[in-house]
Amino acid sequence: VRPLNPNELLARLRTQLRRKAYHDGLRASVVKTYEMAVTDSLTGLHNRLYLETHLATLFKRAVERRRPLSILMTDIDRFKLINDTHGHDGGDEVLREFARRLRRNVRGSDLASRYGGEEFFIVMPDTDQTLASIVAERIRREVAATPFEINNTGASIAMTISIGIASVLPDGDTVHNLMKRADDALYGAKSSGRNKVVSAAA
Ligand code: GH3
Ligand code: MG
Ligand code: MG
Repeated sequence: VRPLNPNELLARLRTQLRRKAYHDGLRASVVKTYEMAVTDSLTGLHNRLYLETHLATLFKRAVERRRPLSILMTDIDRFKLINDTHGHDGGDEVLREFARRLRRNVRGSDLASRYGGEEFFIVMPDTDQTLASIVAERIRREVAATPFEINNTGASIAMTISIGIASVLPDGDTVHNLMKRADDALYGAKSSGRNKVVSAAA
C-alpha cells in the first residue's frame, strides 16, 4: 500500500525469501529421497523398484508402437565363493566394478539396474533379440577376459557371469511372461555350465 514504507517492504521481502528457501529445500529433499529410494547405494545403479516401475512403461510403449524390446538377466557365477575367499568387502568391490563395466557397455537409453544381491537386469528398448545377444556376449566376454582387482588386498579375481535374454513377443505378451522367459534362459545358462549367454526361444 502506498506510500511505501521501506522498512516494511524489506521485512516482507525477507519473509517471502525465507519462505521460498524453505520450500526449495523441501522440494530438493523430496527429490533426493525419491532418488535414494530408487538407487542402489552400493553400485549407484537403479534398483529393483525403479526397474519394475519403468519396465512396465517401456514394455507398454514397445507393444503399442510395435517396436522390439529385450531384457538381459545377469547373475554372477559362484559369487558365494568370491565372498568366502575374499570377504564380503572384496565381494562388494567386485559388485561395484561389475556395475561400472555394465554401464560402459550399454547405451544411455538402456536401463541397467541391480535387481538383487548379485543379479543385474538390463532393459533395452528398440533392441531385438539378435542385437541383445551381441551386447550380452560382449559383456560376458569382457567380464571373463579381465580379472577384477581388489584394491586393499591387491587380489585379482577371475569371474564369470551368466546371462538370460528374452524379447517382447508381438502378440499377447506380458511383463511377467517376459521376465519369466529371461529367468528360464538364465537358468539354462547356469545349468549348461555357466559363463554363457542363452536366449529364450521366441
Ligand atoms: P551361481 O553360479 O549358481 O549363481 O552361484 P552363486 O554362488 O553366485 O549363487 P547364490 O545366489 O547362491 O549366491 C549369491 C551370493 O551373493 C550369496 C550372498 O551372500 C551374496 N551377496 C548378495 N548380496 C551381496 C552384497 O551386497 N555384497 C556381497 N559381498 N555379497 C552379496
Ligand atoms: Mg543369484
Ligand atoms: Mg550367482
